[in-house]
Amino acid sequence: MSEDEARRAADLIERIGRLIQAEEQKSPLNPAQWEALRYLEKANRFSRTPAALAEYLGSTRGTVSQTLIALEKKGCVERRQSTRDRRSVDMTLTDAGRAQLAEDPLREFAAHIAATGTDGTLEEALSAVLHEAILQNRSKSFGICATCRFFRRDERAGDRTMPHRCALLDVPLSDDDSGRICAEQEPA
Ligand code: SF4
Repeated sequence: MSEDEARRAADLIERIGRLIQAEEQKSPLNPAQWEALRYLEKANRFSRTPAALAEYLGSTRGTVSQTLIALEKKGCVERRQSTRDRRSVDMTLTDAGRAQLAEDPLREFAAHIAATGTDGTLEEALSAVLHEAILQNRSKSFGICATCRFFRRDERAGDRTMPHRCALLDVPLSDDDSGRICAEQEPA
């Protein structure tokens, strides 16, 4: 791709982002609140902390704290003391938060993508762009367990509910865990 083509593609990504934000502004949540809800839906149980959310969004802890307080007031999330670190808290989605996600404006945008008939190359191209940006910014990858160098598939095959293991945190993992994003993930 030439430099001009890359620049035009970057303009398109920015324009699309602004259109999505405009739709989010018409909903009961603002863009930052939507981003937080989506993150909590995707993240594994070790990554649902305000600090991890701030890192994922490239935001400050103060800004993220305000977003989470607003979501708590709207009944979309709950705060619980972490069972792993007594100085930390875990954020969890409530039923109201999950119901809100069913109305996510991003779903409508996904329908627009599907309507174009584009194939999987769009997702692959955007994933490559994201990967490059993460590398250049030296950000955490927030990939899924199944692609992590610490993931040990079927190491505990005798346990049907938690057949896998995380070699970093030394905890059992379920099939559901293996498809979730993690703040500690390091690509294999
Ligand atoms: S295997 Fe990797 S991604 Fe999964 S919980 Fe452990 S550190 Fe996180």
